[in-house]
Amino acid sequence: MKKVRTTIKSALKRTQLFKLLAPWYSGSGSILMFHRICRKEEKSFFLNNSALEITPEYLEAIILSFKKRGYVFVPIGDVPRILNIHQKQKFVVFTFDDGYLDTYALAYPIFRKYKVPFTIYVTTSFPDGDAVLWWYMLDALVIQNRTVEFDLDGTHYGFNCCDNQSKEMTFMAIQKIIQSSNPSHFSNVVEAVFAKNGIDRRATSDRFAIGWESLIAMSKDKLVTIGAHTVNHFSLKNLSEEELNSELLLSKNRIESKIDLPVKAFSYPFGGINEAGLREFDAVKRAGFETGVTTRQTNVFKQHKSYLTSLPRINIDGNIESFAKIEYESGFLPFYRAGCKGFVAD
Ligand SMILES: [Zn+2]
Repeated sequence: MKKVRTTIKSALKRTQLFKLLAPWYSGSGSILMFHRICRKEEKSFFLNNSALEITPEYLEAIILSFKKRGYVFVPIGDVPRILNIHQKQKFVVFTFDDGYLDTYALAYPIFRKYKVPFTIYVTTSFPDGDAVLWWYMLDALVIQNRTVEFDLDGTHYGFNCCDNQSKEMTFMAIQKIIQSSNPSHFSNVVEAVFAKNGIDRRATSDRFAIGWESLIAMSKDKLVTIGAHTVNHFSLKNLSEEELNSELLLSKNRIESKIDLPVKAFSYPFGGINEAGLREFDAVKRAGFETGVTTRQTNVFKQHKSYLTSLPRINIDGNIESFAKIEYESGFLPFYRAGCKGFVAD
């Protein structure tokens, strides 16, 4: 059976037949998820980081491709209304998570050029300068050194990073240590792994995180929606009820106080099935958000009008800059995996 499925999949992909099935799997529209826009020569050496980084040329190609296929470009705030009316034209929403400086410096001019609306979901510790962007701190640590050593919880760790292969392996190994560490020990980990090796938290934050000035400037533009992405980017399922509500409300209030506009759009940190579920979808609604977007990958179907705080998105992977591949792997493939039902409620 598995062999038959694989054969069907590869035949669909090879012949591009999946494109003929587009009216069926593409639903009412798509919400696209981006993180960073980054010039080709500045992309990270590490696959996990470069997956977040899309070149400006590729962003333009994506906009033009949707334009060519007759999609209407809408802000996230229009999705509830569109799902309640009969609209023949499919829609597309562009969204950026976290709050990187390049959303303002590189993405915003492209959206202005094409008059395309977009949303930036801000983790408020980013513009507040408090965020620990450990994935870029780790990037610098491994790129700059031929060996990396640190002591953590009574264990001495030593890693070789003298060539490309060992750098990639060391990055993955330290990433695993950081991600599996207890959140209450997180500052100890940052101190041991980075501070003692001369990698400065604040300098990394200043280099990559967007500032309030840029967010305030963009908020005055009708093309831009500023949404919330919590204060600290924790996995929400790991939080108590009180901590969860505080992450939602504090981030909402913080942004509203800065831009002087209501914040009605929310994006779940990490956003997968292990990080956000029914409790979180409900809490987001109660906190006063109209829409919530996950990282569950399918297109948006009519039925989602009853599930506005768990809207799916299609991830745009910076390591796969091929539009046909996006259509197939992000549009058709999840639809196929969901048993060709397309619609995913939670
Ligand atoms: Zn995020």
